[in-house]
Amino acid sequence: MARCKFCGQEIDWITSMEGKQVPVDPDPVFVIEDGGPEEFLDDMGATITGRQARPEEESRDLPVAFVLHRRTCPWADKPTQRRVERGGSYGGLSPAT
Ligand SMILES: [Zn+2]
Repeated sequence: MARCKFCGQEIDWITSMEGKQVPVDPDPVFVIEDGGPEEFLDDMGATITGRQARPEEESRDLPVAFVLHRRTCPWADKPTQRRVERGGSYGGLSPAT
């Protein structure tokens, strides 16, 4: 089981249709495709858009998919983290050691 390098939570990796490795939460959820704003990935890497079913709405007829970890990660999309990554990849402001 992989772990997120930012928050330490367990994650799985799914290869999307575009061939990208996408971190997801390990527990799949039922998705209701009602035009909701959230994106999920099924185990084939296809994107499903909708919202997570509430417990009373869950049904085996619903598609099952994984929540993208960047939506649950407390550290995802934090400006400081992004700045660190960008600085590293462009070799810009890394301290001289
Ligand atoms: Zn995380």
